[in-house]
Amino acid sequence: MQVPFVDLKAQYLTIKEEVDAAILNVLASTQFILGEEVKLFEEEFAAFCGSKYAIGVASGTDALHLALRACGIGPGDEVIVPSNTFIATALAVSYSGASVRFCDVNEDTLLMDVKNVEKAVTDKTRAIIPVHLYGQCVDMDPIVEFAKQNRLIVIEDACQAHGALYKDRKAGSLGKIGCFSFYPGKNLGAYGDGGMAVTDDEEITRRLRCLRNYGSEIKYYHPEKGFNSRLDTVQASVLRIKLRKLEGWNSRRYEIAQLYREGLAGSNIRHVQETGCGTHVYHLFVVRVGDRDRVADSLKTKGIQPVIHYPIPIHLQDAYRDSGMGKGSFPVTEKAAGEILSLPMFPELTDDQANHVISVLLDSLAP
Ligand SMILES: *Cc1c(COP(=O)(O)O)cnc(C)c1O
Repeated sequence: MQVPFVDLKAQYLTIKEEVDAAILNVLASTQFILGEEVKLFEEEFAAFCGSKYAIGVASGTDALHLALRACGIGPGDEVIVPSNTFIATALAVSYSGASVRFCDVNEDTLLMDVKNVEKAVTDKTRAIIPVHLYGQCVDMDPIVEFAKQNRLIVIEDACQAHGALYKDRKAGSLGKIGCFSFYPGKNLGAYGDGGMAVTDDEEITRRLRCLRNYGSEIKYYHPEKGFNSRLDTVQASVLRIKLRKLEGWNSRRYEIAQLYREGLAGSNIRHVQETGCGTHVYHLFVVRVGDRDRVADSLKTKGIQPVIHYPIPIHLQDAYRDSGMGKGSFPVTEKAAGEILSLPMFPELTDDQANHVISVLLDSLAP
């Protein structure tokens, strides 16, 4: 039995007719930049998140980058980012001209927590980027409270958490701006690159619309140097269809996670814990094993494709040598990087496939 890490083809086949028609519709309209499909998707996605406004951009990285700029963050400022995240969170800060201040994460959830934020803050800190990694929200109340007391801006990286709840509110609606990616493998994925920023703030919305469109609100008038970073109209038309399926797909991911959790209970295989303060949408199901590389190899020889998210913490990447944070700076993140393994996870994964993953995994432990 083959178990790929994700299977975008299987999902496409379930929505082919609708998606093909939507794409052909955009082609026939020749409205390729912004226009009605982008506007409607922005409205629908804002409503989905419980936010007033949504601004479509070219990628999740750009959503974060432009969000920082829209808040006036730039050279001389510091932004706190967990070292345990995809590198794009840090890159966005670097693009803005601000400096990245890394912090460690919680041992059980591998998410940012307020304790570690407190250690990273300096008098130059302007913003915090909590990352809702793997599909569940950071415990936001303490971070938002800390930010308020210290006049810091909170920008959420919700690129792995479309539809996740924190208490009764959606990921992305918990800070000043929420940033999403529609990279194809995400819970809500386009058929190319795409991203979105959501906010309740009218002025920030105006700034983001300007920044994504060459720094202009009125054509050929440019009050600032903006960017070319719009959500592609063909992608918006695909995403409108997929958004209607998202809740169902997220529930199926949760069911698969339950199979994994139950199947591995009582074994030596630990997994990343749920925070207990929201609903996890399981972008990734991450286990922790001591001899990770051997376990990964034994899965691969049985046709199962695991992935490591992520093998090298960002503060130890060559690209961030200038952060000055060497080995030993963030022990929880560094230890986890050697133990984590993401199991196959996508809504079309069958129970049989999940059970196969579990039994191969348990076998791999036997001496
Ligand atoms: C995918 C991802 C991003 C970047 O999104 P792109 O659309 O690929 O630019 C940023 N942060 C996290 C946590 C991600 O998973």
